[in-house]
Amino acid sequence: MHLPTLIGIILLLNLILGGLLLVIYKLRQQQRCFLYWAVSCWVFVAGGSIAAARNYIDMPWLTHWFASVLLIAAPLLAVKGVQHFRAPRSARKWRGQIILMLAIAIGLALLYPMYAWISPVTSILIASLFLWAVYLLVNVKASMQLPQQLLCLFFSLHVITMLLQAGSMIVTLIAAPGAQPVAQVDTGIIASAVVEAPEASMSSMLHITFISHLLLTTTTALMFPLLVFSKTEERLVELANIDDLTKLYNRRAFFQEAEEQFKYARINNTNICVLMVDLDYFKDVNDTWGHAVGDECLRWVAKCLQNELRDTDILARVGGEEFAIALPGVDLERARLLSNRLCKRVAAKPVKIDNLSIPLSISIGGVLCIPEHTDFQMLLSDADKALYQAKENGRNQVVFT
Ligand code: GH3
Ligand code: MG
Ligand code: MG
Repeated sequence: MHLPTLIGIILLLNLILGGLLLVIYKLRQQQRCFLYWAVSCWVFVAGGSIAAARNYIDMPWLTHWFASVLLIAAPLLAVKGVQHFRAPRSARKWRGQIILMLAIAIGLALLYPMYAWISPVTSILIASLFLWAVYLLVNVKASMQLPQQLLCLFFSLHVITMLLQAGSMIVTLIAAPGAQPVAQVDTGIIASAVVEAPEASMSSMLHITFISHLLLTTTTALMFPLLVFSKTEERLVELANIDDLTKLYNRRAFFQEAEEQFKYARINNTNICVLMVDLDYFKDVNDTWGHAVGDECLRWVAKCLQNELRDTDILARVGGEEFAIALPGVDLERARLLSNRLCKRVAAKPVKIDNLSIPLSISIGGVLCIPEHTDFQMLLSDADKALYQAKENGRNQVVFT
């Protein structure tokens, strides 16, 4: 393929994708990673265009040194975007990146007397930055892994391409140290393609480099947003279903999950029990030790309940100091035994929080689903009635309807 055309396509693609990423950033104000990726695309376009101009402009400081600095700054900005995506708060500071960029700029300036070497060094630095991005991406925890895997794959391929390119440039430079290699060997990625007729091996290396760039640009532009969106989606689902204080299911998720189990039990004629759990005199705990200690007590009770249940049981915090438990496949006798065990566990000894000793107890109302329970609400309502009875009877006890 005609190399200058290929370069033109890559630069244009980066220009457009930078615009696309900026639009996404505008739509999702708080996600700065998109801004960094957009600027990264444009810095690459600027660096690439200046490097490509070196056969027409005789200003080596601009077309070699400055172009290389920009071409290195582009992946550094992409890395910054990944860092921001992983941990927005800790990625606010720029000092590290600025120092690194200054050091690179000064290093390349020192190399200027042998400016043919700027290109392989640039390639090696770009490869290192992409390797850093791979390291950061590998450690991202996301339920949807495809975007992450594809990004890692194409970044790694680009690392290999960049290193191969640097290697071939170094070999050429060492083989012909007296030659003027810049025009033939040229910079990491762009300008050599603009020269009249690169040697065959160099030309095929450049083809590989540019195709790697095309794949990299397209994958990045598609996968970065997908990665961020899937992570945001995950967070939204968590916010919608998980109670922030105890990390248990919230009321909404409990209804969704437990109702499904209720329907399954009705259709298949299997057992299901529901327990409503309420902390006794919890207002007094808050009044005596403060709200923060009260919160700790809620967390402790949540853990205590969770430790006693099976994976298939559904435990949720459905109100301030109220928990609900659905026990699929559990008969009345086992539900009673479990409820009594829960009560005893919580009241066994005072909870230790910050050198404080806080006595806690719970009351439990339970119900076994019978044919008369035609909907889930009826079951819950009966469990509530039983809980009320347990409170009436003096608390710290279990009542089943
Ligand atoms: P009872 O034995 O009758 O259930 O008495 P109680 O004091 O537990 O019940 P009441 O309904 O009078 O008070 C519930 C208290 O739970 C009041 C409120 O301060 C506390 N509470 C509700 N949600 C939270 C929370 O998220 N954190 C803390 N610390 N306290 C909470
Ligand atoms: Mg209570
Ligand atoms: Mg209550």
